[in-house]
Amino acid sequence: MSEYYNVAEIFGENVFNDSVMQERLPKKVYKKMREVMDEGVEMDLETADVVAHEMKEWAIEKGATHYTHWFQPLTGATAEKHDSFITAPMDNGKVLMSFSGKELIKGEPDASSFPSGGLRATFEARGYTAWDCTSPAFVRQDAAGAILCIPTAFCSYTGEALDQKTPLLRSMEAINEQSLRLLRLFGNQTSKRVTPSVGPEQEYFLVDRQKYLKRKDLIFTGRTLFGAMPPKGQEMDDHYFGVIRERIGAFMKDVNQELWKLGVSAKTQHNEVAPAQHELAPIYAQCNVAVDNNQLVMETLKKEAFHHGLTCLLNEKPFAGVNGSGKHNNWSLITDDGINLLNPGKTPHENIQFLLVLTCILKAVDVHADLLRESAADAGNDQRLGANEAPPAIISIYLGEQLQDVLNQLISTGSATRSLKGEVLQTGVRTLPDFMKDATDRNRTSPFAFTGNKFEFRMVGSNDSIAAPNVVLNTIVAEVFCEACDVLEQAEDFDLAVHDLIKEYAIEHQRIVFNGNGYSEEWVAEAERRGLPNIRNMVDAVPALTAEKSIRMFEKFNVFTETELSSRAEIHYENYAKVINIEAHTMIDMASKQIIPAVIKYITSLAHSINEVKAACVADVSTQTELLQETSDLLTDTKVALAKLVEATRKAAAMEEGREQAVAYRDYVKTAMEELRSPVDQLEMLVDKEMWPMPSYGDLMFEV
Ligand code: ADP
Ligand code: MG
Repeated sequence: MSEYYNVAEIFGENVFNDSVMQERLPKKVYKKMREVMDEGVEMDLETADVVAHEMKEWAIEKGATHYTHWFQPLTGATAEKHDSFITAPMDNGKVLMSFSGKELIKGEPDASSFPSGGLRATFEARGYTAWDCTSPAFVRQDAAGAILCIPTAFCSYTGEALDQKTPLLRSMEAINEQSLRLLRLFGNQTSKRVTPSVGPEQEYFLVDRQKYLKRKDLIFTGRTLFGAMPPKGQEMDDHYFGVIRERIGAFMKDVNQELWKLGVSAKTQHNEVAPAQHELAPIYAQCNVAVDNNQLVMETLKKEAFHHGLTCLLNEKPFAGVNGSGKHNNWSLITDDGINLLNPGKTPHENIQFLLVLTCILKAVDVHADLLRESAADAGNDQRLGANEAPPAIISIYLGEQLQDVLNQLISTGSATRSLKGEVLQTGVRTLPDFMKDATDRNRTSPFAFTGNKFEFRMVGSNDSIAAPNVVLNTIVAEVFCEACDVLEQAEDFDLAVHDLIKEYAIEHQRIVFNGNGYSEEWVAEAERRGLPNIRNMVDAVPALTAEKSIRMFEKFNVFTETELSSRAEIHYENYAKVINIEAHTMIDMASKQIIPAVIKYITSLAHSINEVKAACVADVSTQTELLQETSDLLTDTKVALAKLVEATRKAAAMEEGREQAVAYRDYVKTAMEELRSPVDQLEMLVDKEMWPMPSYGDLMFEV
């Protein structure tokens, strides 16, 4: 067992954070850095040179040999290329360690080797990474040694965004500007900046690495493509918040230690609903830092799992029939002087600014429900959304009793005069302390729920970057804030104008509010009556990106150009097709080379034993013969379904990349995959476990 440690001592020790800068940078340079970070002042090369030098010295003290521009291209993962600090050998054969401001500010990865959705042809190779000094550099220590990682944005030679971070930073600018306008209207002259705060709760599965290595589907696709249900699933509700087993606890301890060193404030950990499923939540941070930190969380989970003989599965649906994994994206708007625009206070009906913010968000989410849905779409999340355990694919907002009551008053009378209060919780036990309960209960079936002083967007997939949903949230809310400010800045009677606007937004967009059971069939019908979109899969979600209203909005706030949006749509279609293609090929491979041969072996041994029993004339063999027949029939079904899948995949793969190809993968290949899975899962229940060529669901989920 590794030793115990003092959190306060190790926290942030590998981060080039404010206190390190304050300590190591000359006063003038530190001041300039703060201006760049806090006020968006432009960085100059002189400052960068000094920062680079100090950063290098600091990193070398931590054992760093290399630096890397760490960025997030549209592959879903992070990217890095390591350069050592060494310079060309001098005459005496020795090297110096150097790192210049230029190297800190700019990198030049080959842009044509990353997804660009047609933005870059293969011969147009130039792309740049640019230092994002608002997210601190850090030293990552692992088997590769210690590497100084510099968070960067990645764009093409012509300035188009090729990554997650660039649009995110742009959207943060947009929401900052519009929120400040709104605050000024309410008399706030002191706040200088409004930043989205984000706390992502990360769900994941852990399986034993040796078992994982026996499953080609897990290796190639991150999820099981075959697998009969084990005798026990999650029906006993005994895993959620259950005692954390020693092996998992040891893993979590090391994950926390690594994250704390990297300045990631890992806060909460617990077992989740499905067997072998867990969750980690950090304390919320500034949007772009939260996005970077979440990438570090995912990387650290995988790395530490490896050290503990485990594998961390981040796929949204590693196992059919039990809960999948998501990532709850908690979002609010907070000023530099600590005011949360989403804090309703004790009496929300009197908090006019809050009511305006709230109704603006209602409008934003209602108008752009399709975009928000798109931001959470990926092939893996298709397995999860809309199934009976995850948020429905329909976007709606949960407000809770207190805010719903205020909203009802607004809608019926035009103004709100009272707020429901929390009461003392009655447990009926005298020795338990009395405390006030919240004025509002929770609703876990809502995809977009108000939870006290933040909204929680629950659709995001566990494997995805949280950048896309936050780009959308920041921009759609900026758009409505902007529209409201346009009206209010011109108003003769401000109080009356605010009142009218709140009422208008509340009435016009009340259809997006739903406080009931989001998992129910009735809701699907009700949502349809209300005209809310129900976008069931990724392929159907993508067009939202290039809808006219989206283009208009993203261009207005300089978040995406139309070209960037089209390229992203292309990338999504290609990505979807590739994911399904790999899954289909993996199934073909497993069925042909592992499952069918195993079934044949079993059938052969069964046939031999029938013959032997017959020859010995010892007993009736009708049961064995029946079993043999049943197994053989399923083998035939498997063979037929396999041929169909081969054919469907061949056809889809031959198509040109783009929407139609993605549709073919969704409609034909995925159907053929399901048809192959069915007889195979039945066979798993018949064939001798000793002969089945891979660990079962039970082995994977219960023997961790
Ligand atoms: P829950 O009960 O929903 O898990 P928590 O209070 O544990 O609620 O919060 C979940 C996540 O939301 C955490 O990452 C937390 O830091 C984050 N969070 C809390 N307040 C805010 C806020 N105002 N803005 C954004 N995220 C927040
Ligand atoms: Mg939560």
